[in-house]
Amino acid sequence: MKSLVFLVIQLAASAVALGPLKRQAAAATVASGCHKIATDTDYPAKSVWQQALPGVTAIDPSAFGTDPAPDYRYRPRTSTDVVNAVKFATKYNIRLTVITSGHDFLCRSTSSSGLLLDVSLLTGIRLSSSFKAKTAGVTPIRSDETPKALKDSCKEAVVTFGASYGGQPLNDALSAVGMVAVAGNHGAVAPAGGWGQTAGHSPLANQFGLGVDQWLEAKVVTADGKLRVVNSVSNSDLFWAIRGGGGGFGVVVEATMKVYPDVPVTGINFWLNSTTPDVNSEGLEKASQALWAALPDIQASGISGYFFGSPGYIRGTSVHVGELSNVTDAYNAWIPVLEKMQSYEGVLPFQSRPFVYANFKEYYDTTYGARSWLAAPTGPDYNAKAKRHDADDPPAPRGFGWVPTDSVLFGPDHMKDPALLGVIKTQALWNMIMTTPKPGTTTNIGKQTSAHPGWRKATALMTTINLGELGNADAARAFAPDMGGYINEGWADDPNWKQNFWGLDNYNRLSGIKTKYDPKNVFWTTPGINAEQRQFIDGRVCFATGASNTTAAPITDSKPGPDPVKLAGYLIAELTGKFPAPGEYVGVQPH
Ligand SMILES: Cc1cc2nc3c(=O)[nH]c(=O)nc-3n(C[C@H](O)[C@H](O)[C@H](O)COP(=O)(O)OP(=O)(O)OC[C@H]3O[C@@H](n4cnc5c(N)ncnc54)[C@H](O)[C@@H]3O)c2cc1C
Repeated sequence: MKSLVFLVIQLAASAVALGPLKRQAAAATVASGCHKIATDTDYPAKSVWQQALPGVTAIDPSAFGTDPAPDYRYRPRTSTDVVNAVKFATKYNIRLTVITSGHDFLCRSTSSSGLLLDVSLLTGIRLSSSFKAKTAGVTPIRSDETPKALKDSCKEAVVTFGASYGGQPLNDALSAVGMVAVAGNHGAVAPAGGWGQTAGHSPLANQFGLGVDQWLEAKVVTADGKLRVVNSVSNSDLFWAIRGGGGGFGVVVEATMKVYPDVPVTGINFWLNSTTPDVNSEGLEKASQALWAALPDIQASGISGYFFGSPGYIRGTSVHVGELSNVTDAYNAWIPVLEKMQSYEGVLPFQSRPFVYANFKEYYDTTYGARSWLAAPTGPDYNAKAKRHDADDPPAPRGFGWVPTDSVLFGPDHMKDPALLGVIKTQALWNMIMTTPKPGTTTNIGKQTSAHPGWRKATALMTTINLGELGNADAARAFAPDMGGYINEGWADDPNWKQNFWGLDNYNRLSGIKTKYDPKNVFWTTPGINAEQRQFIDGRVCFATGASNTTAAPITDSKPGPDPVKLAGYLIAELTGKFPAPGEYVGVQPH
């Protein structure tokens, strides 16, 4: 626990005392192709912005933290508004940044200048009984559409929705008609945004696939200002690219995705040595190894979960979906593992609690607070409400703030390898996120998407906070060199970023598609496909000529530190709030 508290303090301190963490800009020479910034004499006046984009607002940079912010925010309500915004930005050569929830840890949804295109008002949700890809695409969503229950079979049902939704509001609407969509564990991250365009791990992924596996069609405004239908028969190369490329190919304004009859969910939370001051770290290390080695078989049986540890404790939240949602069966899957873990010297008998949710909406509501909690507070456990990042009527999103995440995917052999312990010991704490489809199943559709192929053979994504010497995943990368990591929870300074975030084959193909649809790199994000084409130099984004002096992706142009109070509160609640007192909930608990 001591090391965790240290980590929290360290992270908060980095935001407060040091200000935003920065890297040295790469020494590339600058060509004339730079974006305009507000101090340029030919930068459009406010009246020009307002005439072209009615409702556009000037951004107060102080609301964005310590780093510079974009100049204007525009909140389109239709795809035509988005087309106008893209045309405006290209006409005046202005930096263009897209934001949905603002949850990107690498700050790719903020920038230091130009236009912030905020798609969080693109609404409308429609449920349809089937989908067939056509060049004309599905009927465009209307902003006021709400899903209606299907009269016929819902086996091939699909949902079409405006790009604004986080997983929780989308599933609130779908739950009312008995359906569920795959979505991130945090209810704010966006299925049609960075979550669904990169990989999108989910507590439902073991049953239904990753976020990138859910797409059937998108409507995308590309850099030339065209609204394109993107599916398997229309712009099919772009369809492959948006399913894993990580954004930067255009503005997704509408998505059509798979949906499923709603599922019950059972959770088992367990703890070993929840608050013991004297730690037998050797015993806990052996218990950790026993857990890691068991995870491939647990995953193969359809179970998902989140598992955390430090030298002082082990904690797990397992998720049992659909026909696996049964407290007795869930405990039966875990008891042999937990009994083995508690058999090591110094490890106390496990503590646990079961949770049963009628559907995925209830899972969200209990974990993060129902979306109506402001009006009618209910009483979920563990500071759940504080973990939500929006209110019922969300204000315009701003970036979450830069968090130095790092991650590596591990396959079954890595989890069972005794050498994993030495790798993990290079970190202050470990997180194993087992929310991926089990390898070798039909939901695991590999090459159809551009996400890193490592996802298709992974048991878990190991994540950490990379504070340089402390917590980086270098040893894990060396241990699992072919697996890759997750850019959304990845290390922005990774020198092998193309290989580690996409795999080189995927990266090279993505690079060609990006050049075809966005030759001037209007939708520049870094790290991102063709990120090395631009550099942030002297307050503006420019085309880079000449070789960069670093192999890492270029420095981003705005890295506000995370709000230290919010971050420390969140992490401390996460790290301490969930531990039962010693002696509480010992062994199997009734529901
Ligand atoms: C608290 C928290 C919990 C998380 N939980 C999970 C999880 O369970 N599973 C998981 O896989 N990841 C998770 N993540 C990581 C998440 O995948 C990333 O933060 C992701 O970038 C969020 O996408 P977004 O669109 O919601 O965020 P944003 O910050 O708005 O956007 C992220 C990126 O996508 C681009 N983008 C967004 N919308 C569009 C659009 N419509 N068209 C084109 N580009 C767009 C942005 O420009 C930016 O580059 C979590 C992050 C946080 C902070």
